[in-house]
Amino acid sequence: MAVRRASSPLDDRSLFAEYPFLPGAEALLGGEAVSVRGLLEEPAYATARALGRTRLRAAADDPRGAHELDELSRADPGVRFLSFLFARIVLSAAVQPATLRRWAVAEAKRSYARLAGVPVDELAEVARRLGHSLAASDVGVALPLVDYIRLATPIREAEFRLARQEVRAGEVRVGAVRAARLLQEAVRLRLAQPLPLAEEVVRRVREQEAELFEELARRMPLPVQRPGAPGSAIRPDRFPPCIRKMQRTLQHGENLSHAGRFCLAAFLHRAGADEETIVDAYRGAPDFDESITRYQVEHITHRDGGRGYEPPECGTLRSHGLCARDGDPAATEPADRPRDPLCFEEYLRHPLQYYRIKGGAVLERDGVEGEGGVTSRGGSHDRSGARGRTRSTGPR
Ligand code: SF4
Repeated sequence: MAVRRASSPLDDRSLFAEYPFLPGAEALLGGEAVSVRGLLEEPAYATARALGRTRLRAAADDPRGAHELDELSRADPGVRFLSFLFARIVLSAAVQPATLRRWAVAEAKRSYARLAGVPVDELAEVARRLGHSLAASDVGVALPLVDYIRLATPIREAEFRLARQEVRAGEVRVGAVRAARLLQEAVRLRLAQPLPLAEEVVRRVREQEAELFEELARRMPLPVQRPGAPGSAIRPDRFPPCIRKMQRTLQHGENLSHAGRFCLAAFLHRAGADEETIVDAYRGAPDFDESITRYQVEHITHRDGGRGYEPPECGTLRSHGLCARDGDPAATEPADRPRDPLCFEEYLRHPLQYYRIKGGAVLERDGVEGEGGVTSRGGSHDRSGARGRTRSTGPR
């Protein structure tokens, strides 16, 4: 079928070149049979593999998908599709699933950049091929209530809440740009699922692309210590389960509550992370906006001569549903799955206390009160918990 843009038709070939994740996109190969093994090894596909690696590097650098890849726009649609497929196969074999999730966010956001400006019939066609029903309506588009709930639930922006939507006869009516944002979510969900690969393929990819995996790991931002931060380097492996879960939620491109976002920024700052590192922690968020994030991070970290707000204590995090001491059944990292005995110690009252006991260095503070509802007296969260009383409310 042909899908129309404002004045020119977007045929199947162009549609698949723009949205290579759509079922049926293999039609771009014009009947050419390409095996997984062939794509991974044969010289004929070297260009597609190189382009696929470029896609992966761009996503590792910036999951907002804002990178305009000239090589991608210039490439033949068949090569573009194969580069996409190669990237997906490689990440489906990755030991570290965060790379797949980060790429899924990047590709979804890249698609959104186009979807937000296309006519409704192209939106509807992409939605249909992704298994969602979407039709033109008086205000833009209409989609079934159940589809809306499924796609809007991970989105944090208040304007996506169901209570704010126009619902008529089992359908939700939204503007075209909002529909594009919902489809971004549909793309992310689809691409975050690894392809089922045979063990032999996984082994081969891991051997063949070992250097690429190392490079991606280097490119994905790790905590960087700010100048003048306390003693030893930041130790993310010693962060408490709640903080690791907050990081993972954002890496998945999923929603993290306002309280969680505040806690993560305040914790990273007190653990000595520099501002870039803290901003980077939010790049995977579905609603990431760099300027807003920078403003909020500055607000949290610049307070009180740079000491920043104190992150909430365990009791507060528990009341917000952010404590993860029981382990997270959905966690893919083994360290996040089991119940953590330290978190059940009676004296454990604060995530920074956990980090300190595990050997992490924490920026001290000595009695700061103020807006943001964070107070710390004594500030030292030692093993006994006798000092360092904290009182927190949520962020402003
Ligand atoms: S007990 Fe405290 S440190 Fe441990 S997961 Fe819960 S909130 Fe985090």
